[in-house]
Amino acid sequence: MKTNSKKDIRSMTKEQLRDFFVEKGDKAFRGNQVYEWLWQKSAHSFDGMTNVSKETRELLDANFVINHIKVDQMQRSKDGTIKNAVRLHDGLIVESVLIPTSKRTTACVSSQVGCSLDCKFCATARLKRMRNLNPDEIYDQVVAIDSQSKLYHNMPLSNIVFMGMGEPLMNYNNVLKAIDKITSPEGLGMSSKRITVSTSGVPKMIRKMADEKVKFKLAVSLHSAIDEIRTSIMPFNANFTLKDLRESLQYWYEQTKSRITYEYVVWQGINDSKKDVDALVDFCRFAPSKVNLIEYNPIDDGEFRQASNKAIEMYVNTLEDNGITVTVRRSRGKDIDAACGQLANKS
Ligand code: SAH
Repeated sequence: MKTNSKKDIRSMTKEQLRDFFVEKGDKAFRGNQVYEWLWQKSAHSFDGMTNVSKETRELLDANFVINHIKVDQMQRSKDGTIKNAVRLHDGLIVESVLIPTSKRTTACVSSQVGCSLDCKFCATARLKRMRNLNPDEIYDQVVAIDSQSKLYHNMPLSNIVFMGMGEPLMNYNNVLKAIDKITSPEGLGMSSKRITVSTSGVPKMIRKMADEKVKFKLAVSLHSAIDEIRTSIMPFNANFTLKDLRESLQYWYEQTKSRITYEYVVWQGINDSKKDVDALVDFCRFAPSKVNLIEYNPIDDGEFRQASNKAIEMYVNTLEDNGITVTVRRSRGKDIDAACGQLANKS
């Protein structure tokens, strides 16, 4: 049998694995054992499953593959940030990043190969979307970074942000399945409160998440609260509009009572005037909000330039005066192209 005709074993539920063994004349319990190896113990091969018999391992090998990711290349920044080039079973590459601080380590994971959206300032957008990641491919990135966190920073991974390549809400089902495994005691057992899903803002999916009462946090890459400007830098905004986005976020807040974080870059001549910050304040009014002002990481041609310190100060003061929490984020891992918007499989 050719390898590519075998099924990805991690696309199966525990029930399906149990059924498989019963059909083969074994005990359903065997399915539990194998399931534990696949998720909790993150086995890379059937050979490594030491408490199942050789016959069982051969049976698995004849029917399934484990499409484990492989960290092809790891780069370490002088600030401790680690960027991984992750090879998928079909040879495509995504990137994931470990961001350490003194108290915690954060994994920034990818949800798609490339991205479905077309933000003008983002390097990943240029790759276009090649495919969605499977739940196990997302899970494996977290497992790999958890090991690196233990190895290089002597602590287990504490937080996860879906801020790598891709738009998580355009791969919603797989992202949710991955989060289920990450938070389940049968997987990594991490708390959903330590997970943030970041979106460019897909109103329909934000409503769906609200209905499903998900427990993770939500971040929205806003960058402008004025439709005309937002559409010029994030063209898909033309299809959704800020009104749709705001209404969906209001619904999210009503259903979850969970504060919304906005990611926001201030660029010279694009969104650095008083009217821009006033629009942002207005946009944030309906729910408790936090604004992260992210430093711009140039991706090439000079069309976008980081705003002056004076403009940033104006943002900070105006937001604070209006009772909105604001933080100014310095970029991490810039020297290895691991910062926001720089993930583009360059090396
Ligand atoms: N598609 C999702 C997940 C990606 S998160 C989203 O848009 O939220 C990546 C974050 O980096 C987003 O907030 C994005 O707007 C921001 N970003 C993209 N390019 C950037 C750049 N060149 N400099 C700084 N931030 C950037």
